[in-house]
Amino acid sequence: MKVKGSYPGLKEFAEFMVKETERVCDPAMNPDKDKKPNKENSKESRRSYSTTAKKPRCIYCNKENHYIDECKKFGAIPVKERQE
Ligand SMILES: [Zn+2]
Repeated sequence: MKVKGSYPGLKEFAEFMVKETERVCDPAMNPDKDKKPNKENSKESRRSYSTTAKKPRCIYCNKENHYIDECKKFGAIPVKERQE
């Protein structure tokens, strides 16, 4: 059995894919995209950003400007002690 030329329907398939891609890229066919501009998500990320932008406070030595994981005093003590 011999297959002559290209696969049957390949050209049609390629044309279909082009049409499909054009359809997907057409904003008129995707009204939901513009209708909902990710209001919830941007709000959420802004809130979490302000949380991280808050002044750090070390709970170990109770001093500001650094977190406990950046604390030199806390980092100086042995790991064994830290867990207890
Ligand atoms: Zn500290």
